[in-house]
Amino acid sequence: MNPDPDYSAAYLRVETDAGDGLEGHGFVFTIGRGNDVQAAAIRALTPHLVGRDVEGILDDMGGFWRELVWDSQLRWLGPEKGVMHMAIGAVVNAMWDLKAKRAGLPLWQLLARMTPEEIVDLVDFRYLSDALTREDALRILRAAEPGRGEREARLLAGGYPAYTTTPGWLGYSDEKLVRLCREAVADGFGMIKLKVGGNVEDDVRRMRLAREAVGSGIRIAVDANQRWDVDEAIAWMGRLAEFDVAWIEEPTSPDDVLGHAAIARGIAPIPVATGEHSGGRVMFKQMLQAGSLSVLQIDAARVAGVNENIAILLLAAKFGVPVCPHAGGVGLCEAVQHLAMFDFVAVSGSAEGRVIEYVDHLHEHFVTPTSVSDGVYHAPTTPGNGMEMLASSRKEYTFHD
Ligand SMILES: [Mg+2]
Repeated sequence: MNPDPDYSAAYLRVETDAGDGLEGHGFVFTIGRGNDVQAAAIRALTPHLVGRDVEGILDDMGGFWRELVWDSQLRWLGPEKGVMHMAIGAVVNAMWDLKAKRAGLPLWQLLARMTPEEIVDLVDFRYLSDALTREDALRILRAAEPGRGEREARLLAGGYPAYTTTPGWLGYSDEKLVRLCREAVADGFGMIKLKVGGNVEDDVRRMRLAREAVGSGIRIAVDANQRWDVDEAIAWMGRLAEFDVAWIEEPTSPDDVLGHAAIARGIAPIPVATGEHSGGRVMFKQMLQAGSLSVLQIDAARVAGVNENIAILLLAAKFGVPVCPHAGGVGLCEAVQHLAMFDFVAVSGSAEGRVIEYVDHLHEHFVTPTSVSDGVYHAPTTPGNGMEMLASSRKEYTFHD
């Protein structure tokens, strides 16, 4: 589905004249030429930032999110999905980066120390209230409140479980697949993921090799990257079921709520996972209502930033569905770990059945690269949202201007 990616990012840096030297950084990950379109969308939001009072924005991040999402002329381009919505995500995330740096806290900790009332004020419940009300959200957050301190300490001591997609790319030889599977186990990962959907006989062979290489104690998920129609997905997964599949990810179009639900029924008990291309909170609401997914995959740079991902985390908690974030790309691991850790401490209160995706490349370009070892993400302690790239990398790789 993505045969020629050219990993890119539309990158945003917010400066102020506060004199503290702090900047807010955010980006939208893209896979090539779309990056120019994405950058133009971010520029279209300039009037919402330039000349504004920074404290006013940072003190009311819920209001700022609504202001951007409800810019009626730009809203026409979505609404609440696609290029414009992702651009809003970059701006919102950059402002959260600035807020976290000013607070001297990593984003996950800043969020996890807010009161339940402050957290729900970040969320726009419009269109969600048939599935999640403000009162529901408060109940979820208050239930998690007593255990926050204990879980924060546990997270800082033991990290958050990771899984690796490194072994499973289509196009690797069988020998390389087996070698990387063994290395993943040796590196302490409890789960790996294989790309599927090219050729069913190849997938059966690769799954058998992977299962033999990792043994029965390691979970293996598969990812079809939207390749199939509904019936094809069910038939294909029927061939892979014998290998004890942890989940099938993106079996079909990310917009197909009822198609995912049909696949989920057709391949039960294999879980269906999706979300990395889900346009926003309303789509996630429907997926949860329809039983379309049983693993929810948020992405830090797909929806309109931290606020919307908090709404999605609350929806998942309401429906009792585990969140296993999508990552990889450029900087997505650095960014999304903060949301998973916030969820663990202050929302779901659980890491049961939850893992953050990990792909081991391009981390060297970030000011605070992920720290992953022994199969876990170690909690970042540097202030900010993790999205800041090194100035030297930005300079070396900036394209166009
Ligand atoms: Mg995927």
